[in-house]
Amino acid sequence: MSIPSFPARSYAFTPYVPARNWIGGEWVDAASGATLPVENPRHGKVMSHVAMSGAADVDAAVKVAQAAFKTWKQVPIKERADVFYRLKQLMERDLDELAWLASHENGKTFAEAKASVQKGIECVEFGASLPNIAAGEQLDVSRGVNCRIEHEPLGVVAGVTPFNFPIMVPLWMLPQALVGGNTFVLKPSEQVPLGALKLAVLLKEAGLPDGVFNIVNGGVDAVNAIGDHPDIKAIAFVGSTKVAKLLYARGSQTGKAMLCLGGAKNHLIVVPDADVALTAANVVASYTGCAGQRCMAASVLLAVGDVHHVIDAIVEQSKALQLGSEIGSIINAPSVERINGYINDAERRGARVVVDGRGRTGDEAGYWVGPTVIDDVSTDMPAATQEIFGPVLSIVHVPNLDAAIAIENANAYGNAACIYTTSGAVARYVTERVEAGMVGVNVGVPVPREPFGFGGWNDSKFGAGNITGMDGYRFWTRPRKVTTKWQIQTDTNWMS
Ligand code: NAD
Repeated sequence: MSIPSFPARSYAFTPYVPARNWIGGEWVDAASGATLPVENPRHGKVMSHVAMSGAADVDAAVKVAQAAFKTWKQVPIKERADVFYRLKQLMERDLDELAWLASHENGKTFAEAKASVQKGIECVEFGASLPNIAAGEQLDVSRGVNCRIEHEPLGVVAGVTPFNFPIMVPLWMLPQALVGGNTFVLKPSEQVPLGALKLAVLLKEAGLPDGVFNIVNGGVDAVNAIGDHPDIKAIAFVGSTKVAKLLYARGSQTGKAMLCLGGAKNHLIVVPDADVALTAANVVASYTGCAGQRCMAASVLLAVGDVHHVIDAIVEQSKALQLGSEIGSIINAPSVERINGYINDAERRGARVVVDGRGRTGDEAGYWVGPTVIDDVSTDMPAATQEIFGPVLSIVHVPNLDAAIAIENANAYGNAACIYTTSGAVARYVTERVEAGMVGVNVGVPVPREPFGFGGWNDSKFGAGNITGMDGYRFWTRPRKVTTKWQIQTDTNWMS
């Protein structure tokens, strides 16, 4: 195996190796030879090329993974988990390299990229701890009769991931799936394929046998081939709701276990008793972090009654933010156009753009939108209802808490919601009523820390359970119930 290098250690433009497929411990091109340019969004320049695979490449990876499954499933869980202990150490050793890599292909600031890698390491830690917490249940259910549950691997499983967290999101899947005894085919976003390459290199160094983890790069064709492949037993997907729904239906038709996480439109509710300094800083961090390209980002601020003092502080802090050093770039030119389109549309319909990020540029000639606050947005505007996926906060004014909750609940998505208040009673009233899988009280990005699983509700997730935590382990395994009887029984009944 030749080891690709990941050379960047600053924001300076750096060409990277091509992102080839990783199948059975070898770097290979797509069978068709097709590739697509990969851009560094901060610079708007081509930094690499990615293999664009089709059904033949997916099939080649599945065959290798099937062969590897025969031995990997026999490896004791402790030894499978040991790979992730070592991976954690290797990721900590290479933390800066990983963070610069994520920053270069995604456009995040270095600090954001580093935090995302650290969150990935937290998921690796969870996988490494599985032998301690995944003991099955057993009970003597009658005289001499014992029932126990064994969690069996499924076989070859697959993951399809989005552009916004190139290293962290694959690590929502790999630890539980691999420690659970499966072998894996990953299809990373074609916009950010390099982070997965580095994970392959580190997993190999951590002692993972060839063929247990494979990468098939590409776009729609590769995803459709994964959805249709009869020998893939389960797929986890993270990306937009449109594709989550399509793939969920496609994979279910061939009988696979499916868990597809989709998009979001997160509402933050601010009431007059909210702590001004905490709320303003937290809201701004939530809607501008990762340039708003997070499924947990604040999108709509529901201003209950008179909270102008909080809004003034949000506006002031938003205006002070520097593009480049404090806010990263947008993934590509069409995304800049989409985000600006929502701002233009809201303005045309009568909303007020009080902080305007349109046309702002960062430290390099890439793709940028500055922090944007739109006030007096009404609930019939697309800026209030659709996922913008950029650093844009739409403020909707409401007379009371129930009106705020009604707007949140009318939205089809259900990823995150948050209430800013100093009243425990108000916090409880809201957390009990909002339609969201992850709810924050004075926390604008309420990502549950492991072992609490990550996952939304409604149009933000198709399938049962969370993607991380113990739910992830349950998703990637199937329970076998074993009933034994070690007592001579002379009478007979229907269960004998
Ligand atoms: P996307 O849906 O465009 O792409 C995700 C993956 O699907 C990529 O690997 C891509 O190659 C593939 N794909 C794209 N179009 C496809 C099609 N028509 N058929 C089959 N496969 C297709 O998403 P994205 O733009 O990469 O990521 C941003 C989206 O992901 C946002 O909507 C965001 O909210 C969501 N997201 C959700 C979560 C969550 O936990 N719910 C986390 C991160 C991102």
